[in-house]
Amino acid sequence: MDYHTIIPMLAERLSHLNPYKPGEQPSDRDYIKLNANENPYPPPEAVTEEVSWLLTSSRKKLGLYPDPDSTKLREAIAKHLNQTGGVLASDSAAGELHFEITPDMVYCGNGSDEVLSFLYYAFFDNDAPLITPEFSYSFYPVYAGFYNIQLRKVPLKSDFSLDVEGMLKDAESSTGMLFANPNAPTGIALSRAEIRGMLERFPKDKVFVVDEAYADFGKESVLPLLSDFPNLVVVRTFSKSLSFAGMRMGYIVAAPELIRAVTTVKNSVNHFPADIICQTAAAAACSHTTYYRGTTVSIVTTREEFRDSLINAGWEVLPSQTNFVFARKAGKTGREVYEAVKAKGILIRHFDVPGISDFVRITIGTPEQMEMLLSAMEEI
Ligand code: PMP
Repeated sequence: MDYHTIIPMLAERLSHLNPYKPGEQPSDRDYIKLNANENPYPPPEAVTEEVSWLLTSSRKKLGLYPDPDSTKLREAIAKHLNQTGGVLASDSAAGELHFEITPDMVYCGNGSDEVLSFLYYAFFDNDAPLITPEFSYSFYPVYAGFYNIQLRKVPLKSDFSLDVEGMLKDAESSTGMLFANPNAPTGIALSRAEIRGMLERFPKDKVFVVDEAYADFGKESVLPLLSDFPNLVVVRTFSKSLSFAGMRMGYIVAAPELIRAVTTVKNSVNHFPADIICQTAAAAACSHTTYYRGTTVSIVTTREEFRDSLINAGWEVLPSQTNFVFARKAGKTGREVYEAVKAKGILIRHFDVPGISDFVRITIGTPEQMEMLLSAMEEI
């Protein structure tokens, strides 16, 4: 839309923005929502009890500013990561973390979307390209537009995995590296050994960002690499595995010096990115690892069962280490599949983008929801 013809005093830069389009939230009827990689299970009751206590017995606190640095929450996150190793679905991940993550290695923000935006501002310059996969989280190009940073988009390999060699090509002349692992919307992950290999060959004076939004549903985290690579920045979120999409809490784990740089950006934009309710609830969530291991393992089990059923029904389904699968059926476009299941009251996601337009991205819900989706998809 050309705003300037209607409102001439607007800044010119507004017309160049190409904002992110999130999964739709229609209100015309009740849908089963499998389109935004939300968690079908609620946070544990202990978290909501903590919030109720804040809203009742301690409600005077609502009139005071929250801790700008989320100190208690950063301590809770560090403890949670040391306990889980960054992968709720794996019992062995904690043993792979051979050093302690300390609170000064953690930065908290208003969802990982905001955290990512501050990373762009802090570390990426506009005189050199940022390396990122051609298909990854669709907010990355939006920020590139916002901050006027060029992208070097590296095509995925024919099996939709990341092209490691392609990503490293001409890394010297880049401003940094950014990708999601496991990647979205494919669900495919590189191993930690592969990412270690990339970091060994990547310039040490540039930031290498791994977005681990979905790592809790996978096999490995890159957190253990932080001790060897001070230029590694790991972005994580409470939205997916911790059932917090409505609360907005994302964080970074990195060397304390890098955390201080992002904190400087935060303190130049919004001193208080996390409100007191979110800080309190998120800190409480961190001490309920057993509950979250249970919900995460259930989602992983449902994912594998759903994937097998779809494959048996003639679909191609990429291997996933996330809470979603990326699937296609020969002869159908993603939009056709999306429309067919929407008519049955189920929302999934499709991307009208050449290269992936025949796929749909399906969030893993409860076993009952996936059964309903399967019968809707059987008729396609
Ligand atoms: N990174 C990736 C790869 C994602 O898929 C998402 C969720 N859409 C985010 C970051 C943002 O998550 P949030 O802002 O809810 O923390």
